[in-house]
Amino acid sequence: MFKEMLDVLMPRECLVCGRRLGAQESQLCIWCAADLPFTYYWESLWNPMADAFNALLEQLRPEDMKLAYAPAAALLFYHHGNPYKMVPRALKYGGRQDVGRYFGALLGRRLRSSVVFAGVDAVVPVPLSALRHWRRGYNQAAVLAGAVARELGARLCPHALGRRRSRSQTSLSAKERLRNVRGVFYLRRGLPPGCRYVLLVDDTFTTGATLSACYYVLRTALGPEVRIGIATLAAVQA
Ligand SMILES: [Zn+2]
Repeated sequence: MFKEMLDVLMPRECLVCGRRLGAQESQLCIWCAADLPFTYYWESLWNPMADAFNALLEQLRPEDMKLAYAPAAALLFYHHGNPYKMVPRALKYGGRQDVGRYFGALLGRRLRSSVVFAGVDAVVPVPLSALRHWRRGYNQAAVLAGAVARELGARLCPHALGRRRSRSQTSLSAKERLRNVRGVFYLRRGLPPGCRYVLLVDDTFTTGATLSACYYVLRTALGPEVRIGIATLAAVQA
């Protein structure tokens, strides 16, 4: 009843098509919800996102370091011409933390159903710089990570990593991004002892540069025994 009253006072709209939502609908109308562009990457250890990420890790790998194939999955495809891009955009630029909690839980449930992500015991969001965090008021990756950790029954470690200020990545090429993020991330509080499988969470997988920089900070701190995977809300489709 309260929800119905709120809907009259503050009509909610579908994130994707703008249609007014009914009381039973959340974030998306039933038509858009039925047609979400899921990647299904969580169903397989080998998928295009994991291949791209592991190729990048291999490129950056110090000579003496051995790496196991890192699991990677995104919930949705992101494409400039596709209206579902509004989902990550609402979370990142629209102040919609509720979108992050809702889709973070969806992502977490998909990961929970996957053998590839079985045993994740710590979830680490890609951090924002202090200035950007202050400007936006929240870290979109941490909002997602919180919901994912809850679904997985894993520990949320929001302050494991820190981030120094750097140029915005948006206008840079893949190579420039890689150069730009090197040295940006550092171990802040680290992880509680005994973690066996750490999941790094970010909002969007584009080139993987940011996640690879975070990966190496964790890998260096945790040693070769701990498994490190990545999960994002969206993956950019070329
Ligand atoms: Zn819709």
